[in-house]
Amino acid sequence: MVDLRTADRVQRVKQGVREIAYITGVSSGCTGFLNAADRARRTGLYAFIGHHVLADDESDSILTAERLQGRLLHLRKHFDMVSIPEALEWLENPSMGDRLAAITFDDGYRDNLTVGLPVLEATAVPATVFVCTEQVLTGRPFWFDVVRSATASDSGALTSLAWVQEISAASPAGGHGLADTLVNALNQDAPTLRAEKVNELSEALGGGLNALPPHLQPLSPDDLRRLASSPLMTIGAHTHTHSVVGCCSESDLRDDLARNITALEELTGERPSVFAYPKGVTDAPSVHVRSILEELGLRAAFTTKRHINRLNSDPWMLGRFPLGAGPVSAFAWELMQLSF
Ligand SMILES: [Zn+2]
Repeated sequence: MVDLRTADRVQRVKQGVREIAYITGVSSGCTGFLNAADRARRTGLYAFIGHHVLADDESDSILTAERLQGRLLHLRKHFDMVSIPEALEWLENPSMGDRLAAITFDDGYRDNLTVGLPVLEATAVPATVFVCTEQVLTGRPFWFDVVRSATASDSGALTSLAWVQEISAASPAGGHGLADTLVNALNQDAPTLRAEKVNELSEALGGGLNALPPHLQPLSPDDLRRLASSPLMTIGAHTHTHSVVGCCSESDLRDDLARNITALEELTGERPSVFAYPKGVTDAPSVHVRSILEELGLRAAFTTKRHINRLNSDPWMLGRFPLGAGPVSAFAWELMQLSF
C-alpha cells in the first residue's frame, strides 16, 4: 500500500527541485554547448494546445492569464515563436537547428479574446484558435458543456429523457462518468440527431442553463471578427458542431466541416487552411478523410498526440503538447524533459 504522506512529501520535493531549476535557469536554452547531433535532435516544431484562459482561477485547473504569460515568456527565450502558417512553411522547407514553437487554442471560447489576446499582445506571440461555428452563430454554449452542466446540476430533468435512460442503462455510471458516457454516445450521432437530443435536454433543464459559468461562453460573431482582425491571430477549422473524426459517418464529417469552413470564411473574410481534429485522433486519417480535408482546401491538421513535429512529419498528424494549468516552473520542467 502506498503511504500517502510519503507520496505527498515526494511530490513536494519534486516541485521544489523544479522551482529551483526554473529560478536558477537550469532549464534555459544553453544551446551554446550543444554539438550538431544535439541540435539536430532538438530541431523541430513544438506546438502547444490550450482551451481557456481565465483572469483568475482558484481551482488551479484552468490556465490563468499570469501563467499563460509566464509560459510565453519562457518559450520565447528558447524558441522562435511562429504562427501556424509560418510553421507550415517551415515543415515544407525545414532548417537544421531550428526550434520553433506555436501556440493554439481549441473550440473558440470568448475568454480567448477577452483574456488570452491581451497576453499574446503583451508578449508579441502569435497564436491560432481552432473555432467551431455552431455556438458562434446560435449564441448557445457548446453542446458538450450543456451535457456536462446538466449532469452536474439536475439529474432529475436529465434522467426523464428516454435517450438518456437508454444510454445510462447500456453503460451505468454516475457523476463525471455519466457526463463522459453521454458525451461519448452523442459523439456517435449524426450532428442533426445530436442537436435534437441536446435541444430536448436544454428544454428539460429550463432556466438551468443560465447558471453556466462565464468561462463556458463561446465567441460571438463580433468577438470572432475582433479576434481574427488581430495580426497575431490565425483562425483554424474545428468542424461546425465539434464532430469527432471516426465517430460520425464520413459524409456527416464532410458536411459539418464544409459548413464550418464556409461560416468562418463569411465571418472573418478568410478561408481557414488548417484544422484541429475535435478530441484529437489516435490513428492517421483514412485516405478518404484525407481527401475530404484536401478537397476543402486544408493543408494540415493537428492532433493531441504529444510529439515534436520534425522533418518529414505527416502534415495530417501534427502533434501538440498541453499548455497545462499548473505553475510555470512545472511547465518549464516538463518542456526540459522533452528537449533532451
Ligand atoms: Zn475541441
